[in-house]
Amino acid sequence: MNIRNYYSLLDLNTFKVNVSAEFYINIQSENDLLKLLQNTSHKKIFILGGGSNILLTRNIKGLVIHNQIKGIKIKTETNKHIIVEIGAGEIWDQVVKWSTERNLYGIENLSLIPGYIGAAPIQNIGAYGTEIKDVFQELKAVNLKTKKTHFFNKFDCQFGYRDSIFKNKLKDKFIITKVTIKLSKINTLNLSYKAIKKELEKVNHKRFTSKDIREVIIKIRKQKLPDPKYIGNAGSFFKNPIVNQDILNQIKNLHPEVPFFKNNDQIKIPAGWLIEKLNWKGFRDKNCGVYNKHSLVLINYGNASGIDIVNLSKKIKQDVNQKFNIKLEEEVSII
Ligand code: NAP
Repeated sequence: MNIRNYYSLLDLNTFKVNVSAEFYINIQSENDLLKLLQNTSHKKIFILGGGSNILLTRNIKGLVIHNQIKGIKIKTETNKHIIVEIGAGEIWDQVVKWSTERNLYGIENLSLIPGYIGAAPIQNIGAYGTEIKDVFQELKAVNLKTKKTHFFNKFDCQFGYRDSIFKNKLKDKFIITKVTIKLSKINTLNLSYKAIKKELEKVNHKRFTSKDIREVIIKIRKQKLPDPKYIGNAGSFFKNPIVNQDILNQIKNLHPEVPFFKNNDQIKIPAGWLIEKLNWKGFRDKNCGVYNKHSLVLINYGNASGIDIVNLSKKIKQDVNQKFNIKLEEEVSII
């Protein structure tokens, strides 16, 4: 195990912000992780996965552990489903590819989401009406203080909308090493989102597989979202706000076309619509801006600092609050 000093994190965060770690180590197995934790004297530990949902605003003091624990292991298989345990350092989208190639169902709507699987339960990743909680079985994690291993089931994780206990009470307290999910062998496609239906209407066959849906979603996402390989970004910067009926009515009075989604008495308005309505789409301020094909995505044109991007996000939040009386919350973790 090789600990590096003043290690650049430029290529390890998808926002492509140029900061460094005081100390950095790349961990490939659970055993190495336990050995490291038992022997380290570092008090400050920061866990890095795929770096796709963070905005780094400063150099990181202490030890950065880059969790690259790999492995996809089938634990149980019946004629209806399969239970798979996956190393936290596996790339999420490779897991989706693996599942659709085997004609398995459950995570195809989550195609092309960047990042590692270890981070997926932390923010309960979601897209097109599916969340990881829908297939989640359990996760294994090490307590950074006691160095003991624990298992968390779905209930323990307290999943919410892009949220879990690991973003709240247990924030920065555990390092996730394995995630176990249950995939179906039976066709259980979720085609509720209009964008998917619209694409499928163009294709001339009736029975779609998870692989077909993966291809459709990859096509839609590539049209709307910037590829972090070429443009620094961390996907949706803000969460879609949940509002009350009064706020919705006020907006409707001025903009009858406002999109909204009602679910269990909750009203969700797309944050992207609010931002676009205020003409931020395509806005650029020196080195950062708002993507011109999707206003929920803030981008780094090359040399933006984390602070530049935070400042832009604050201006957007202020504008949305002033004009719509809605407080946007970040989906991205600001560090
Ligand atoms: P979109 O189709 O333009 O719709 C805008 C928003 O409306 C979405 O964020 C979605 O909420 C909501 N929505 C649309 N149809 C809905 C329905 N049938 N039922 C309930 N809510 C509905 O969205 P988009 O921005 O292109 O994103 C498509 C999907 O990919 C969304 O699920 C989005 O969350 C996901 N996505 C995630 C990220 C990320 O970085 N986390 C980035 C891009 C896209 P929800 O977000 O709650 O689904």
